[in-house]
Amino acid sequence: MANKNFIAGVEQARTLDQQDVLAKFKDRFYPLADNKIYMDGNSLGLASKDAEAALLKVMEIWKNEGILIWNAENGHYFNYGKNIGARVAKLINAEANEVMITANTTLNIHQAIATFWKPTKERYKILVDDLNFPTDRYAVDSQIALKGMKVEDVIKIVESADGIFIDEDAVIEAMTEDVAVILLPSVLYRSSQLLDMELLTKEAHQRGIYIGFDLCHSIGSVHHNFKSINPDFAVWCNYKYLSAGPGATAGMFVNKKHFAKEVGLAGWFGNKDETQFQLKHQFDQARDVTAYQTGTPNMFSMAPLEGVMNIYEEAGMENVRAKSLNLTAYMMYLIDTRLNEYGYSYTNETEDHKRGGHVALVHEEAYRICMALKAHNIIPDYREPNVIRLAPIALYNSYEEVYQLIDALENIGKNKEWNNFSQERTIVI
Ligand SMILES: *Cc1c(COP(=O)(O)O)cnc(C)c1O
Repeated sequence: MANKNFIAGVEQARTLDQQDVLAKFKDRFYPLADNKIYMDGNSLGLASKDAEAALLKVMEIWKNEGILIWNAENGHYFNYGKNIGARVAKLINAEANEVMITANTTLNIHQAIATFWKPTKERYKILVDDLNFPTDRYAVDSQIALKGMKVEDVIKIVESADGIFIDEDAVIEAMTEDVAVILLPSVLYRSSQLLDMELLTKEAHQRGIYIGFDLCHSIGSVHHNFKSINPDFAVWCNYKYLSAGPGATAGMFVNKKHFAKEVGLAGWFGNKDETQFQLKHQFDQARDVTAYQTGTPNMFSMAPLEGVMNIYEEAGMENVRAKSLNLTAYMMYLIDTRLNEYGYSYTNETEDHKRGGHVALVHEEAYRICMALKAHNIIPDYREPNVIRLAPIALYNSYEEVYQLIDALENIGKNKEWNNFSQERTIVI
C-alpha cells in the first residue's frame, strides 16, 4: 500500500527531508510556541509570514486612505473576492472567473441550493450522504423548510454500509429521475476518502441532475482538475489546509455554463460593477461568479488568503499533493510496523487516488491518547468516538516530525500513558 520503499529508523526521515523540494517553505510559517509539532492543519492551518504581510498591508491602506481603499490599486480591493478567487481557481484548475471568495461554507451551501434547486413535481429530491459534516445537512434542510416542504419528502440519503466509506456505485444507483441536485463531500472529514468526483459528475449529468461538492477537506491538499470533473458548483472553507486564518472568508465555484442563472440569494455586491452604484432597486445581476457575492467583502478575513497564495504559487499544487501523499504513506508504514501491537490501526483509504490529506488513526483510548500527545508537545485532532486525525501538512510538516509523532504514540501505547488523563470532554480538543 505504501507508495515508497520505506525502512525503519529516523535516518530515512532525515534523508527524505533533505530531498524535499518543499522543505524551504517551513520557514515561511510561524512555528508554534514551544516548537509544538502540529498535526492539525486540516482543522486550522498555521499562520504564515505571507498571510501576515497581506493582512498588515490592508490595515495600512485603510489607515492612509480611508474610503479610498476601494479605489486603491485600480480597484483591487473592490474586486478582492474575484481577484483572490482567480488565484485559488488555479488550485482546482477552474477558470479565473468561476471562483469567488465570499461568506462562509455554510452560507455558500445555502447560496448553491437556493440557486440550483428549483423543485418541480417530478424532480425535487436532494441527494446527500450520511457521513458529510453536519452543517451541510443543516443548510440543505433549512432550504427545504424555507420552501414549505418537508425534509423527509425531499432528502434522499445514501447510507454508508460501514459508517466509514461511501460507495460510489450506491450513489449512482440512488440517482433516480426524481433527484434534482446532489451535494457530496470531495474528501470525507473522518476517513479521508476521496470520492471519484469525475465519475459521479458524469453519471449525474447523464441523468439531468446538478451536482456540487464540498471541498473543505481537499482544497489546498488535493490537486483537483475541474476542467475534467466539470461539476456544477463547489464550496469550501479556506482556513483548513489553505491556512488563511480562523474564520477566513470561504470559496465558491460556479461552472461558467450557469452564469445565466438567477442567483438564489442576491445582494448589491452581486450586481454588475457598472450599475452597482446607481443604487437602483432592480438587481442587475453580474454574469459571472461575482453574482454570488452578497454584501461588502470582509477584507481582513480575505487578506491572509491572498498572502498564502504566494506560497502556493511558488510551491506548485502538484508538489504539495505529491508530498502530502508521501507523508501520509510514510505515517501508515510506521503505524503498520510499530504501533499495531499497542492497539492502533487506521480507517482511511490507503490507495493514493482515493486518499485525502490525513490519516485516521483508530484506538479505543483515542480521546485520552490525544491528551497524552499534547503532553508530548504534539497537537492532534480528535473525532468521536475513537478517531485521531493526523494531517501532516506538505508546506510546513517534515518527515522527521511524522517520525517523532510515531515515537510518541509508541511510548504512549507501551506505558499506557492514557491512564494519566480523565475521560471528561473539554469543548475543543
Ligand atoms: C470545516 C467544514 C465546514 C465548515 O463550515 P463553515 O461554514 O466554514 O464553518 C463545512 N463543511 C465541511 C465538510 C467542513 O469540513
